[in-house]
Amino acid sequence: MTETPTELTLTLDGEQVHAKDGETLLDVCRRAGKEVPTLCAEDRVDPMGSCRMCLVEVEGQRRLQPSCAFKVQAGQVVQTASDKVKRHRQLLLSMYLADHELDEDDLPRERGTGNQLRQHVLDHGTGPKLPAINAPREYRMENNPYIHFDPEACVLCNLCVRYCDEVEAVSAITLAGRGAKTTIATADQKGLLDTTCEMCGGCIAVCPTGAMTEKPSLASDFREEEVVRSTCNFCGVGCQVNLHTQDNKVVRVTSPPAGETVNDGNLCIKGRFSMEFIQHEDRLTQPLVRGDDGALHTTTWENALKVAAQGLMGVKEKYGADSLGFISSSRCTGEENYLLQKLSRAAFGTNNCHQCAAT
Ligand code: SF4
Ligand code: SF4
Repeated sequence: MTETPTELTLTLDGEQVHAKDGETLLDVCRRAGKEVPTLCAEDRVDPMGSCRMCLVEVEGQRRLQPSCAFKVQAGQVVQTASDKVKRHRQLLLSMYLADHELDEDDLPRERGTGNQLRQHVLDHGTGPKLPAINAPREYRMENNPYIHFDPEACVLCNLCVRYCDEVEAVSAITLAGRGAKTTIATADQKGLLDTTCEMCGGCIAVCPTGAMTEKPSLASDFREEEVVRSTCNFCGVGCQVNLHTQDNKVVRVTSPPAGETVNDGNLCIKGRFSMEFIQHEDRLTQPLVRGDDGALHTTTWENALKVAAQGLMGVKEKYGADSLGFISSSRCTGEENYLLQKLSRAAFGTNNCHQCAAT
């Protein structure tokens, strides 16, 4: 029998708030609508407290505490925006900037996949400008077609590694090196294709700085115009995808946020990266009907459906309903598969319907 977590009360920025035993201060802050900046926090993995962005002041604690990892306690008095907390955030951001590629406005470069570090600098400002740290990190040779890693844009939050370990259970990447040479590496700095990596791209999705980026989208100028929600059609799971378009072409595929859809923020290699087929010149974009000359000719959907229906009805009338068979695909959605069996049974009167995933 699972125990119901104990309700407790604490003081957050001068107001009494309720929490459940086992929650973190960040959980409570978010529920209370507090703007606590984070880089390394992600609900799907255990907290690490590595980026130090989410530090808050807890009465009785000598140091500021990472709200993502610090558990609530009854009677706690917490401040999320005290002068001490604000000074800490600004100094921390100054330190990140000293070890980061900056654009002409002295901001971390926008990287298409989003750069939360840049946004934090804009939202919270920085402390004194610190001299740039000259500590180039080790690059690795990557010949994979999908994932680009730029070590100079990395803040070593280790979120990509934790995602790879705890969500994908693959452990293809790891923190390696010491001091200024620390970086995200693979075993023997091999390219990802020579590791256990499944090319799921989840490390890109969680990376808060864009240090991990989709290679195909690097070729675009990140001027994405529209995001369209769709259902991935590579298998029947029904993962939801966001199609990012530019000049009416899909340039990037991402998952809706974790917790919103069946795929919980995750995608596989096919769902995330296999998008060339959408605009491929070999793709059939118009219905075809075979003419009396034996060749396929383009036609309207209305005519194609009419010809197909007449053909099927003709077979049924001549040989009986059970001479027909309907085969569906696991690449269709559950709804499409349901409709096909409905067509088979209700419209044509046969139970001869099958789907490839059933074999
Ligand atoms: S693509 Fe997926 S499996 Fe490969 S390193 Fe990134 S998270 Fe791990
Ligand atoms: S690559 Fe991104 S997610 Fe990984 S440690 Fe660096 S900043 Fe964090």
